[in-house]
Amino acid sequence: MTGPPHAPLLCELHAHTTWSDGAQTIGQLVDAYGQAGFDVLCVTDHVIRSDDPEHPPGGPPQHVHTRNHSSYVMAIEIEAARARVQYDLLVLPGLELTYNDPDPLRAAHAVAVGLETFAGVDDGIERALRDARRQGAALIAAHPYAPAAAAGAPRATARFAADWRTLAPLVDRWELINRRDVFGWVAEAGLPAVATGDAHEPEHVFTWKTMIVCRKERASVLAHLRSTAPTYLVDAASVVAAREATASARLTYAAS
Ligand SMILES: [Zn+2]
Ligand SMILES: [Zn+2]
Repeated sequence: MTGPPHAPLLCELHAHTTWSDGAQTIGQLVDAYGQAGFDVLCVTDHVIRSDDPEHPPGGPPQHVHTRNHSSYVMAIEIEAARARVQYDLLVLPGLELTYNDPDPLRAAHAVAVGLETFAGVDDGIERALRDARRQGAALIAAHPYAPAAAAGAPRATARFAADWRTLAPLVDRWELINRRDVFGWVAEAGLPAVATGDAHEPEHVFTWKTMIVCRKERASVLAHLRSTAPTYLVDAASVVAAREATASARLTYAAS
């Protein structure tokens, strides 16, 4: 017996806060996505190599690490409880497994959606992906620049594009769109695609996103992303505008 059809869920699967290099606190992020009418928000702050070349020792601790990870998850869970009551927004914890390297062909970032335990990248991105998958996370290859495009890119991460046949079994989805950047080779290779905002600033709410059709529950969202079920890539601004128009039409109809 099947239940009623589920409404498509508008999802932000990749978002940063002041726990790493985002401009907003978790609470501010929740309010921004809640007020915009999103259904799912995953908080994915950076975990980096202890010898990360872009974060020399002594700099500000702009990342999640083993010592603050439990506080990070707790802070997300507290806001998740509020978000569900206030906005019916499902908030999930996560991390961005961030393997920076001076050589773009060795640099790779991956978003671990729903990861509640710590996964470090000191032993390489493959080990981190395996650890995160074992813990039930859904894994997304982030901003996978083609090697030729990585040189001038803000994040020179070309490993996923260079080694996609080797790395594909370790992830569930690939960013075809990150914010407004398109990685066309992902479509050409026939890899399962998502779009994320990689939100660092408030205006990143209204960029390209993913919609999925499943129950608005943590296990259902993770199972969907880990499966081969379809996703829909949408411009969030148009979805939010369409939903607002439908809501106001309903109000007008009810009042008439
Ligand atoms: Zn990244
Ligand atoms: Zn990111």
